Amino acid sequence: MSVPQVSVIVPMYNEEANLPELHARLTKVLTGIDASSEIIYVDDGSTDSTPDQLEMLLQQPQPVCVRAVRLPRRRGKTAALSAGFAIARGSILVTTDADLQEPPEVLPMLLSRVRSGEAHLVVAWRQQRQDTLFRVLASRLFNTTLHWLTGLSLHDVNCGTKAMKREVAENLEGWMISDMHRYLPVLAARMGYRVAEAPVPHVARRRGHSRFGASRYLRAIVDLLPVSLMWWRGWQVWLTLVAVSIWLTATHHPVGWLGLAMAVAWAGSALAFWWKYDFPSPGR
Ligand code: UDP
Ligand code: MG
Repeated sequence: MSVPQVSVIVPMYNEEANLPELHARLTKVLTGIDASSEIIYVDDGSTDSTPDQLEMLLQQPQPVCVRAVRLPRRRGKTAALSAGFAIARGSILVTTDADLQEPPEVLPMLLSRVRSGEAHLVVAWRQQRQDTLFRVLASRLFNTTLHWLTGLSLHDVNCGTKAMKREVAENLEGWMISDMHRYLPVLAARMGYRVAEAPVPHVARRRGHSRFGASRYLRAIVDLLPVSLMWWRGWQVWLTLVAVSIWLTATHHPVGWLGLAMAVAWAGSALAFWWKYDFPSPGR
């Protein structure tokens, strides 16, 4: 079996209603590109019929190589992507969500921009978001914060649809814990990789519902500290927080202790990353 040039990785948690259409459309798209490919479905411990459907797909003859990984329990999107990266064989890795909110038909465009060498990573930028107003506003705030922090001009850092050179995914591996999938484009840029964005149409989730609850916002904030401390701006914010907390504690304000405890916890998690992480220089 020859090594495929492109690996498409799809994390899935209880996506039984979307899998048939997703698979049909992905297969059609991938048979139409001038590169060999594989689809890697990562079942993130689904409790519906997703694993059975995957088993059936693996047993049927397929025009595109189909592989599947099953995580023994739900470990979240970041862990699912990481499991897909670990077995992917392509020189370009593509990720997309199972819910078809970004049409699979956009993948060749993302791919061609990475293959041309224009960028090491291309992230889709959802146009006319079909999500609730609250989510759209939260996403705006998230992207504006990242822009202010990093200076990068990206509008939709957390879009699940991306294409990247294999080397980028390999170097992101050390960051694939918690819910860090949200920050992959900014981390890649910080490593020195060229990151570009590609506008894509967006459609509402037609089947199933979002697999993330309100805890996503808390996790995004907690994960932001180690990410932000990769930039001097992040240190400025953190040092200001520490200074204000010390002042509040000195003036016997109870919020001061809370601030200090948060600052210490955040610094601890950030240092853990600094300790183990060494930024590689990008290849070509
Ligand atoms: N997902 C996953 N594990 C999780 C949560 C989500 O594998 O714990 C998958 C999910 O099945 C989907 C993708 O990650 O393919 C994005 O999830 P979702 O569409 O629910 O996210 P949203 O669009 O609400 O951000
Ligand atoms: Mg979705």
